[in-house]
Amino acid sequence: MSWLRNWLNRAKENQDPGEESSSRTDEHQQTGERAPGASSDEDHRQGFHIRDAERRQLRRLLRRQDDLSYDLQRAEESLNEENQWTERIEQLNQAIEQAMADREAIEPSTESTPRVQLDPVPIEIVELKEEEPANVRLRIGSTEIGYREEIDWAERGHNVANPELRRMAGDVEPLLPDLESAERTQELREHLLHSLSTYANQLLEHAAAGSELPAMTLADITRTCPACGGWLDQKNRCPICAELNWKRQEIDDDLRRLRKERDDVISDLERQRDRLPIVRRQLAETQSDIEKLRAKGVEPAS
Ligand SMILES: [Zn+2]
Repeated sequence: MSWLRNWLNRAKENQDPGEESSSRTDEHQQTGERAPGASSDEDHRQGFHIRDAERRQLRRLLRRQDDLSYDLQRAEESLNEENQWTERIEQLNQAIEQAMADREAIEPSTESTPRVQLDPVPIEIVELKEEEPANVRLRIGSTEIGYREEIDWAERGHNVANPELRRMAGDVEPLLPDLESAERTQELREHLLHSLSTYANQLLEHAAAGSELPAMTLADITRTCPACGGWLDQKNRCPICAELNWKRQEIDDDLRRLRKERDDVISDLERQRDRLPIVRRQLAETQSDIEKLRAKGVEPAS
């Protein structure tokens, strides 16, 4: 087997000098010295690096040329009498006009106004019992209406603080005057039922808080809104006007948004027009740089 060992040893001996020489070359490169015979290799490598950088630069320039061509197209379009910006501005102007007309048209419907205000007949408190089940009885003229706390046994724990009263006796029918239509009578019926029930609950809350009980007449609970003629609620707010105001505010929000967008489009249009000479110059410069690289035979890196 000695021939095999000898052959292996020889092979190892032959390999070693090669390895040493390559490590020496590395040292020379690191110190900036040039190993004999390596110079043409270096030049070739350096040349390759420069070429590669130029190829990448050319690719960047071509991309920039595309972007600037697109910008130029937009900037040129902005000079046309009719263009995408003027079209959008026109659309927004129409939307603004429409919104303003809609806002103007917001008015209380004739069906809701005017409402009748009843005579100042006092609403007397006949009975007011806070203990469970709470009990409130009101007398208006010759009519008596009784409310009693409705106890929901399942939810009782939550109801103690705010007992909900329910009408158990009496009706508002005798309080209704002759009105022009059954519809108007029904509106007044519902308003009185709602207002008297609210008043009964209010009395209970005041009693619980130990504060003075508010006195009320039929005229008080049928006060009308000076703006629309509809009935006010017990806090002197008009639900009809509140809803109309809410609608107006919604349109105001739309108008703000539309005007803001229109201003933005106008600014963009002006910016495009101002940019035109700059884009033209930048594109010419880019094209000239591309020409120079092409003249050197540089092809874009893929
Ligand atoms: Zn109103």
